[in-house]
Amino acid sequence: MQIKSKLPSVGTTIFTTMSQLALEHKAINLGQGFPDFNPDPALIQAVHQAMLDGINQYPAMAGYPALRAAIADKTQRRYGRLYDIDSEITVTSGATEALMASFQAFVHPGDEVIVIEPFYDLYIPAIQLAGGIPVAVPMTAPDAAVPYYRVDWDRVEKAISSKTRMLVINFPHNPTCTILCPQDLDALEQIVDRHPLMILSDEVYEHLTFDQKEHLSLASRPKLAERAIIVSSFGKTFHATGWKVGYCCAPAYLSTEIRKVHQYTVFTVPSPLQAGLASYMQDPATWESLPAFYQEKRDYLHQGLQQTRFKPMPSEGTFFLLASYENISDLPELDFAKHLNQAYGVGAIPVSAFYLNPNSEQANHRLLRFCFAKQPSTLDQAIERLQKV
Ligand code: PMP
Ligand code: GLN
Repeated sequence: MQIKSKLPSVGTTIFTTMSQLALEHKAINLGQGFPDFNPDPALIQAVHQAMLDGINQYPAMAGYPALRAAIADKTQRRYGRLYDIDSEITVTSGATEALMASFQAFVHPGDEVIVIEPFYDLYIPAIQLAGGIPVAVPMTAPDAAVPYYRVDWDRVEKAISSKTRMLVINFPHNPTCTILCPQDLDALEQIVDRHPLMILSDEVYEHLTFDQKEHLSLASRPKLAERAIIVSSFGKTFHATGWKVGYCCAPAYLSTEIRKVHQYTVFTVPSPLQAGLASYMQDPATWESLPAFYQEKRDYLHQGLQQTRFKPMPSEGTFFLLASYENISDLPELDFAKHLNQAYGVGAIPVSAFYLNPNSEQANHRLLRFCFAKQPSTLDQAIERLQKV
């Protein structure tokens, strides 16, 4: 039987591809973003206890009430906005489902959706599945004068047309490791003043910002929060990427539509995981301790890379850092990442994979993304191997 693919140009994701390569070559995998250590035993215990306590049947469609209450409390403490548990917070199957449900709920065939390039891989196929047209606005790439990526909001605004339905942003940003500053939020406020668009704000790394810099959530600005769907992930926050529990906060008029998709996609998310997370989150130290925990790992990898021919770039947030190999090779990023895997046994992700056209010159800045959510011994082994390059 002949089928007509809805996503003809989609293959296997770069994360899976590079993880498979790392397995094949017994490489230290600093590619795909996941911790190589367990969640806090207290969290595992809380999930186990929930199972023993009989919390094993379908929880509420929008999420286990105590978990929604914990999310509301955390969001209010951190960003000053109180989302309504009944109508504004939805627990989803990872951030992935919250993002997918948002695109399905709001993007109509022919609608344009602005994404900031480089972008997380899911956005483009998700927009296309909904019949939308992705419009990529490149970040300004690092150069000798300003050695980090930044968003040019004028350029974003110029990309807005009468067909623009949505703007997708993601800060702390994967893969460039930049965070929002107050001027960015000011610029976004001006944009929403002038244009009737909604903002899908992927904030999965909200708890991973460094050097005393706070994550600035869109929830902290009423004007933005009224138009925004804010997405987060417990996978990132509590070192449990395999649990696939995330959530989104959005005003009721948006949440209602997201839930219509959610209830017919997964309906709800495993109950003991939700109950365990709810009880674990009663102690704010569980997330407040994360920046210091990850900053130490960031600094460790940064310093280690300084003893190699790679040039690490500053990382303000996420559990990644970028490093340049301009002193080592002229190969395009994907080829160099494969070579590093095969010849030296270290897995990393080419930043070019986060561009619409990964083979173009504009996508290749001789940068690789390394994940530092690893035990010190893993980072040591990787650094030792990278020193040989
Ligand atoms: N958004 C970004 C920017 C990510 O890096 C990830 C990675 N895991 C996700 C969304 C998906 O999160 P989850 O695993 O909770 O679905
Ligand atoms: N978000 C993870 C990363 O950026 C990957 C998640 C996945 O493999 N789909 O590495």
